[in-house]
Formats: sequence, structure tokens, C-alpha cells
Amino acid sequence: MTELEMPASVFDQMVAQARAAAPIESCGILAGGDNRIEQLYEMTNIDKSPIHFAMDPAEQFAVVKKMRAAGLKMLAIYHSHPLTPARLSEEDQRLALTPDVAYLVLSLKDAENPYAKVFVVDRAQARQVPLTIVKG
Ligand SMILES: [Zn+2]
Repeated sequence: MTELEMPASVFDQMVAQARAAAPIESCGILAGGDNRIEQLYEMTNIDKSPIHFAMDPAEQFAVVKKMRAAGLKMLAIYHSHPLTPARLSEEDQRLALTPDVAYLVLSLKDAENPYAKVFVVDRAQARQVPLTIVKG
């Protein structure tokens, strides 16, 4: 994956979920086709922690089924950083094990200006890929 496009409506939904969950990290799955995100699936952070997240395996399984039924591909797993910048922590990087999926981190550090960065992790090396927010 070399880049990702996200509609503004999906970005706004992700920010609303993160603000509602703060100071706990929020998380979820972004799906679409090619490099274009079309759908966001909010997930429960079963760690209920301000510095960790873990998705509920049963909930994740249900989302994967919905995604397949809709003909969408899992493009990225996202989580929020309520108080820290949008970068992968060492633990995030260690737990980034799903192949061919990008990892998006949404930072609420500047409460008025939330921003996101996307990373691809390959052999324990994280590389940032461009994210473009598009109209829609
Ligand atoms: Zn993190």
C-alpha cells in the first residue's frame, strides 16, 4: 500500500467516536476498494485503556463477515491517541501483525485540530504512507 484516500465524512465519524471515548483510546476498521476508504466500522476497545487498545475478536469476526458481504476489503486498522501525537508506539508496532493492512493513528493531542497518520509495518519497520482527505 502506497497511499490512502479517506472521505471527510469518514474522518469526521472517526473523530466523533474518538472524542466520545476519550480519555480511553477508540479503535476500528476501515474498509474499501483499492486505496480508497469507503466504510468505517467502530470497534470496542476491550482494554478500556488510555494508552492501549485491543479489539474484541468476536466483534472483529462479525465485521469481517459484513465487509465481505459488502464486497469491501480491510484497508486499515485505526486507533486514537487521546493525549499523544499520531505515531506508532513501540507496542503498536509490535502488535501490528495483520498482513497487508495499514495502521492509522488519530491524534487528539491538539483538541481543536485532530489529525491522522497512516503507517505500513513490514518486518518490524514502520513506514508512513500519505493520507488524503477527500470530499464526500
Ligand atoms: Zn497507539
